[in-house]
Amino acid sequence: MIGETAMRAGNDERWMRMALDVARSKGSDPSTSPLGCVIVLDGKVIAAERNQTQELPDATAHAEMMAIRRACESTGEMELRGATLYSTLQPCGMCTMASIWAKVGRVVYGAGRDDVHRMYFEARHVDTLGFIADAYRDDIEIEGGCLAGECAALYYPPDADLPQDEQANL
Ligand SMILES: [Zn+2]
Repeated sequence: MIGETAMRAGNDERWMRMALDVARSKGSDPSTSPLGCVIVLDGKVIAAERNQTQELPDATAHAEMMAIRRACESTGEMELRGATLYSTLQPCGMCTMASIWAKVGRVVYGAGRDDVHRMYFEARHVDTLGFIADAYRDDIEIEGGCLAGECAALYYPPDADLPQDEQANL
């Protein structure tokens, strides 16, 4: 018998692998910001999107924002109750807030703040994901570290010496 926790962890890894594939769909060069997001409801994928900020161009076109839009389109509902959002990188404040508005039940992410360069996060001193989740919802589950190593490999490492124009948020 496989316990419920082990089964959930196995499913999480399976969906995170899909998010990784989505992220890598345009290559794995960190300069192209390969972020992937998959939203699953009742065991089915209702959205799978990557970051499209540069292509559109749209500063709000983070993978999670794109996936929430697609999930609402595909279900015809503006609330995604019971859905799990998988993201290869810890969601930023905007995407965490969007998950709250969309009533996503659970957020699972791969690489966290400490696994990647600080340029990926808008706030250098506050963990906006934790802050927003605590401030607005008691019933949203947030878990990090799912395939963290594989996810972090897509991004600039914490100690990367990056030229200023490569650093999106600084
Ligand atoms: Zn975001």
